[in-house]
Amino acid sequence: MLVKALRQEVLEANLELVRRGVVVFTFGNVSGISRREGLVAIKPSGVAYDELTVEQIVVSDLDGRVVDTGLRPSSDLPTHLELYRAFPDIGGVAHTHSEHATAWAPARRPLPCFGTTHADYFHGPVPVTADLGPAEIAGDYEKATGEAIVRAFAGRDPGAVPAVLVAGHAPFCWGSDAATAVHHAVILEYVARMATHTIAVDPDARPLPRELHDRHFFRKHGPGAYYGQAPRR
Ligand SMILES: [Zn+2]
Repeated sequence: MLVKALRQEVLEANLELVRRGVVVFTFGNVSGISRREGLVAIKPSGVAYDELTVEQIVVSDLDGRVVDTGLRPSSDLPTHLELYRAFPDIGGVAHTHSEHATAWAPARRPLPCFGTTHADYFHGPVPVTADLGPAEIAGDYEKATGEAIVRAFAGRDPGAVPAVLVAGHAPFCWGSDAATAVHHAVILEYVARMATHTIAVDPDARPLPRELHDRHFFRKHGPGAYYGQAPRR
């Protein structure tokens, strides 16, 4: 079996979506990439999570050619591949239709940073993609979705905001590996729920002041980070 450890990681990450309550039925998919081998492992299309096995995890190359297992990959594979090609530092992608994050996607409003929980993970608002045109929808739709995400990050660091809302659809999140991408998907759902509550309490709520936002983000990320325990040497 090719990239067995990666497939196991991707299986675990997909099951974690269920454990964390951010998917229903077969919605959602997680992938991971081995940059060294140029192979991506992803959930098969339409297989129930409670029946998923490591053998069923589909392996493709970066052009979407399936190289191991007879199952069809998640139909969103071309979106994942666009992200892996455009964002060379990411190692995993997670897509869900989690309730609160998904509610912001049809609204086509970037998710503002109202509190420090958001600032701990996302340095700035979580952006929304532009709507796809009729030709993109009729054509290679999943690839066009990935291209729209990449365009939404033009001039931005995808490592500083590891999530996006696809207009009218749902979030995609990423991270250094599949497990981290899922972690970000769960946090995004949490902060989207909080943002919805904040707006219910105060429709004119203002985003967190820049200084507090920066303080929280940079105490967990970058060279000056000091949150948590020092890595073992
Ligand atoms: Zn979707």
